Amino acid sequence: MAFTLPELGYAYDALEPHIDARTMEIHHTKHHNGYTNKLNAAIEGTENEGKSIEDILHHLNMDNTAVRNNGGGYYNHNLFWELLNPNDRGRLSGPLLDAVNEAFGSKDGMVEAFSKAAATRFGSGWAWLCAFPGGKVEICSTPNQDNPYMPGVGCGGYPIMCLDVWEHAYYLNYQNRRPDYIDAFFKVVNWNVVEAKYDAIK
Ligand code: MN
Repeated sequence: MAFTLPELGYAYDALEPHIDARTMEIHHTKHHNGYTNKLNAAIEGTENEGKSIEDILHHLNMDNTAVRNNGGGYYNHNLFWELLNPNDRGRLSGPLLDAVNEAFGSKDGMVEAFSKAAATRFGSGWAWLCAFPGGKVEICSTPNQDNPYMPGVGCGGYPIMCLDVWEHAYYLNYQNRRPDYIDAFFKVVNWNVVEAKYDAIK
């Protein structure tokens, strides 16, 4: 069964003014849709057909650039849209807050480290907050559509929060001001979703 472009679960303008509706619409219907279609084309008739996206990425041959770029693009945006859900955003708390305090001293320390990873990623890529079985959390960044599920990429943990720092994610509204877009992300990220991801891994 082929992969399908997921619904956002909220309106394109739901994140205004932090992330604008036009950016969301183009990002979802053009960029993410493109990764989805190209991923399906790349796995059709291969050993990857019928596998979950996590399984494909975890056992990826990194020389397979079509699946690496489009499978990464498919997975990364799925997670990103989930994290931006404006309904019941909650606040960072519970076991994840404990792990964040342990690793970064405070929530602010984690936000600062994540923002630095996002701001200093040269060119296109992603910043990640990842969890490890046992509960430790770590931050990393990756180029292009790579992600820490892939062999030898990033910190090797399980992604629980991510930020797309490709220019297509922010250029219409923020132009070259990536740091302002990173600040905006923390006004819209859904902590309840991040915590649920963490609880499933720790
Ligand atoms: Mn993107």
